[in-house]
Amino acid sequence: MTDFTMEKGADGVAVITWDVKDKSMNVLTREAFATVETLIDDALGDEAVKGIVITSGKETFAGGMDLNTLAKIREESGDDPAQGLFDFTMNGHRILRRLERAGMDPKTNKGGKPVACAITGTCMGIGTEIALACHRRFMADNPKAKIGLPEILVGIFPGGGGTMRYSRMVGAMAAAPVLLEGRSLNPAKAKSAQLIDEVVPADELLAKAKEWVLTAGDADIVKPWDQKGWKMPGGAPYHPAGFMTFVGASAMINGRTKGVYPAAKALLSAVYEGALVPFDTALQIEARWFTSVLMNPSSSAMIRSLFINKEALEKGANRPAVDDQKVKKVGVLGAGMMGAGIAYASANAGIEVVLIDNAQEAAEKGKAYSEGLLDKGIQRKRVTEEKKTQVLGRITPTTDYAALEGCDLIVEAVFEDVGVKAEVTAKAEAVIPADAIFATNTSTLPITELAKASARPEQFIGIHFFSPVDKMMLVEIIKGKQTGDVAVAKALDFVRQIRKTPIVVNDARFFYANRCIIPYINEGIRMVKEGVAPALIENAAKLVGMPLGPLQLTDETSIDLGVKIAKATKAAMGEAYDDTSDEVIFWMADEGRLGRKSNAGFYAYDEKGKRQGLWDGLSEKFPVAEEQPDLTEVQHRLLFVQVLEAVRALEEDVLMDIREGDVGAILGWGFAPWSGGPFSWLDILGAEYATERCDALTEAYGDRFTTPDVLRDMAKKGQSFYGRFGPEAKAA
Ligand code: NAD
Repeated sequence: MTDFTMEKGADGVAVITWDVKDKSMNVLTREAFATVETLIDDALGDEAVKGIVITSGKETFAGGMDLNTLAKIREESGDDPAQGLFDFTMNGHRILRRLERAGMDPKTNKGGKPVACAITGTCMGIGTEIALACHRRFMADNPKAKIGLPEILVGIFPGGGGTMRYSRMVGAMAAAPVLLEGRSLNPAKAKSAQLIDEVVPADELLAKAKEWVLTAGDADIVKPWDQKGWKMPGGAPYHPAGFMTFVGASAMINGRTKGVYPAAKALLSAVYEGALVPFDTALQIEARWFTSVLMNPSSSAMIRSLFINKEALEKGANRPAVDDQKVKKVGVLGAGMMGAGIAYASANAGIEVVLIDNAQEAAEKGKAYSEGLLDKGIQRKRVTEEKKTQVLGRITPTTDYAALEGCDLIVEAVFEDVGVKAEVTAKAEAVIPADAIFATNTSTLPITELAKASARPEQFIGIHFFSPVDKMMLVEIIKGKQTGDVAVAKALDFVRQIRKTPIVVNDARFFYANRCIIPYINEGIRMVKEGVAPALIENAAKLVGMPLGPLQLTDETSIDLGVKIAKATKAAMGEAYDDTSDEVIFWMADEGRLGRKSNAGFYAYDEKGKRQGLWDGLSEKFPVAEEQPDLTEVQHRLLFVQVLEAVRALEEDVLMDIREGDVGAILGWGFAPWSGGPFSWLDILGAEYATERCDALTEAYGDRFTTPDVLRDMAKKGQSFYGRFGPEAKAA
């Protein structure tokens, strides 16, 4: 069975249906694209066929391109992967262009066959690009369906003609939200954005598309850019309005991407250059820029981490082979900031929740948090009143532990205190079924220690959420020494139910994410003490793709939390603890500058809490040195200090899979997404250069930059992390 099939009706309409049999969503492969061409040729050459409708056999239209295809083409192209990728892209252009021209006479634009796209539901990437090549787009009226070109979010851009077609349809400025921000739209919004032409009831979709095909005339099917005298909407680059657009867009892209995401810049270049030439040449320009982006190591690293590996982890790449452990009823202990968020995420996914706190009022307040989020969703038209009632109906706030009866999973989120946690563990275990799993959301306490309070340590596990729970996509699952497979599977199935991305790590101080992010913060603060200009520290971080500079991040998470962690770490580590950065934060805490929450921190804030510039007073206490380090040096300190921690986590077997290390870093603390994560970044640098840099940094700044043995060994052997530890290497 091929992915595309065609049925020619007695009415003269050939319906091409896309239905990839063993997938829940249609994704396009190279082979299937070749079938499309054969079918188009057949329909265009058959006199009995008056027009074509392209649709899907599923409720959704398309998930996009099978991104593994691009990796395969690169591999198969031997010495000249760029040529292979360019040829592949141009072949795609040729097929879609054939569909778009539909047999028209090149001079008169007459005699073509109308082609409509009947979009059954969600439609992404190449699916949308196929639709854009058609002459008219009908979409089923399903408010949950989305259509878009989200390529930019994984580090590439729409290279199947979508960039050229859409920018020529609406103009560069109007196309920006869809192309440059990767925004997906529901049918109504997609219609206003001209991504589609008509929204129709799902059961009339095919009939409406056919009706149009049978009535459309020559003038209805010629694309504007194939007509004489066509002008780019909003102005081409040398038009006064176009000039303003492109100058503004250039500045905006550099501002937003800080120059580290090649795809956004390449996209704009393609639109700019493409607007100056006829459409077929513009497609070549698009293909050149697309190839250039695909050849950039950042794009393959982003695709690997943010698409291929993220999906693999969500689908349970590291799940032990035990029966389905889907959660039916979860008990959440502690209805504070985290507990309330966990209750919301669970109830929203259809799970019954018992939300427990010391006082009924506190438990109710935890439930009210869900109500607040749902109300916001209603205001933004993302949630219905019905959904709100359902979700809230699933949450039972109480102080009574007996209500935990029948819970198959407990997530404990009470105070960060061993004694309090031990007490609630015993109380819950007295009520829950013998095979239930008990999870703790602790961020700092060892799971193996906490498991001592449990009568069933093999059923005890860490499920570490990040704050705010409703926004943060990563969940760290931590195995204690005795944690068994069923507990791991339960945690993974739970995370899947609530549609987040899991990583599974072994128990060690600060697990994985916090272990890497704390040194980043400390390095920034250390530099303040050394006299590095705070603006240089913050900008260096942002210019290398970190979402927040270390000082702003400290303000956001609060300086007193930093003090608390420093004290606790010192107590636990004793002599080995490095207290260099303590002086700065202890002093800030004494000054009452606790960060955003006190409207005063490394930054100044106005009365409304709006962040102003860096706080002047800092330099009075820690003067800025006359001589400043160069930008790359500061950036290397800030990045290496994180990635070396990740490598140590791998060496110590805290991390068991580098894919988790990369995906977890991007989703957990925003580690420079353009790099694909810490291990991908080191692979981009190359082990040899990374080793040289670590040696130099160690000499200049100390042992925290010591080159890990594994990295030195890889440098000697000419290896990369993915070559040595990636899934293929593991499987071999
Ligand atoms: P919080 O202080 O906001 O909430 C704790 C809640 O537990 C309070 O409502 C308190 O009344 C309740 N509680 C205390 N003792 C209890 C008991 N015996 N029985 C029932 N309820 C009890 O704290 P939080 O920020 O939500 O953190 C909770 C846990 O999550 C901690 O272990 C923390 O380390 C962890 N965590 C926090 C964050 C974060 O960013 N805040 C992130 C990840 C993990």
